[in-house]
Amino acid sequence: IQIDGVPMFEDDDTYRGMLFLIQDISNIRRLERMRSEFVANVSHELKTPIAAVKGFAETLLGGGVQDEQTSRAFLQIIYDESERLNRLIGDILELSKIESKRSPLNFSPIHLQPFFDTIREMLNSSAAKKNITMEMNVPEEMFMEADEDRLRQIFVNLISNAVNYTQDGGKVRLTVEEKVSENGEERILFHVRDTGMGIPKKDLPRIFERFYRVDKARSRISGGTGLGLSIVKHLVDLHHGTVTVESEVNIGTTFTVNLPLLQEDEPDI
Ligand code: ADP
Repeated sequence: IQIDGVPMFEDDDTYRGMLFLIQDISNIRRLERMRSEFVANVSHELKTPIAAVKGFAETLLGGGVQDEQTSRAFLQIIYDESERLNRLIGDILELSKIESKRSPLNFSPIHLQPFFDTIREMLNSSAAKKNITMEMNVPEEMFMEADEDRLRQIFVNLISNAVNYTQDGGKVRLTVEEKVSENGEERILFHVRDTGMGIPKKDLPRIFERFYRVDKARSRISGGTGLGLSIVKHLVDLHHGTVTVESEVNIGTTFTVNLPLLQEDEPDI
């Protein structure tokens, strides 16, 4: 609680009393704290790849590395870390755009089968590298209303996580079904299932938080930014949907996205 007081006077300068303004500022303080934590996290996340780029570049410039193989390995690290920085900055900008609502959603009808064919093409090579089979079961004539770019981002993030956190030779499956909810509203349910490493029960409630990772080391190897799922959560919220997760360690994980078939027009403010 913040209390501000000012004395009040009559025209002839006689004292009349005090005027107090009492405000509950806990929400404002909470937002300030979240913002400064975010800035601290971002700085930390940016510093790690920059330190790697700088360190390996310095070593190469110092001329101490003679053999070709080692210098190529160092250059590869510099390249990979720059790529990570690129993704990180892209994700941070995306999150800030979504949160500031600077770019409103652009709803249009989407034909789901060709929509998921494109996503499969985007992710095929990373799945093939790990010998992972990707199965997409999308009914032929299914349409829904959504912001196409945002919807694509939701599923690229979920399916690429499924590929990243599944061992070689595993399976990733997407299924889509239509459902009428209890209040009679038509919904589309998407399930992204994998046969991967799973997520421990204690971590499940936190995985949609920014920069939360179950295993930092593994996430680094997979090149993750720690922001993918928080972007998914935001985008699903903007589509008036929900995203839930079920998982069992060493068996696999299923993310379920539940979205309305049609988007209501936003009321004019
Ligand atoms: P990252 O960039 O680290 O993948 P995300 O926000 O996308 O960040 O995911 C947060 C964390 O949740 C990941 O670091 C990982 O530990 C866990 N995770 C996400 N998807 C899966 C999955 N399909 N299987 C196992 N763990 C997952």
